[in-house]
Amino acid sequence: MSENKEFVRPSWDEYFMDITKVVATRSTCIRRQIGAVIVKDQRLLSSGYNGAPSGLPHCGQIGCVRAANQVPSGERQELCRGLHAEQSAVVQAAMYGVPICGATIYSTHQPCSACTKILINAGIKRIVYQYSYPDKLAEQLIAEAGIEYVCFG
Ligand SMILES: [Zn+2]
Ligand SMILES: [Zn+2]
Repeated sequence: MSENKEFVRPSWDEYFMDITKVVATRSTCIRRQIGAVIVKDQRLLSSGYNGAPSGLPHCGQIGCVRAANQVPSGERQELCRGLHAEQSAVVQAAMYGVPICGATIYSTHQPCSACTKILINAGIKRIVYQYSYPDKLAEQLIAEAGIEYVCFG
């Protein structure tokens, strides 16, 4: 008979944050690889990484206007054809009719203000990220919306 073994298991936050890093490896952004997963009741509901819309040529293939013009990080995001990881994760949930109201989003990076607006309206109640990506407006909106904001690790 096997003895009763005590397993060392990651916390839920560690577990889902680790998954975001695997998701990020699919990113096609030539500047920064970002991954996000949406979780409710410890169930993974959706995932997304940053890159061009599905099936379209990505920045690595046809070039990125932001990279070509050396646009500073965080500025003029509308110039790039890519979606952000958080946007892709919310869209994936919508595409398959998965309710994400009240869920947590884990992201490798702190969400920008554009993603933050979407996350608020999607009903996300908790945001967990690892790497900081300072955005004053995003932080202000999150504070106003009363969303739990966790910098992990
Ligand atoms: Zn781009
Ligand atoms: Zn974003």
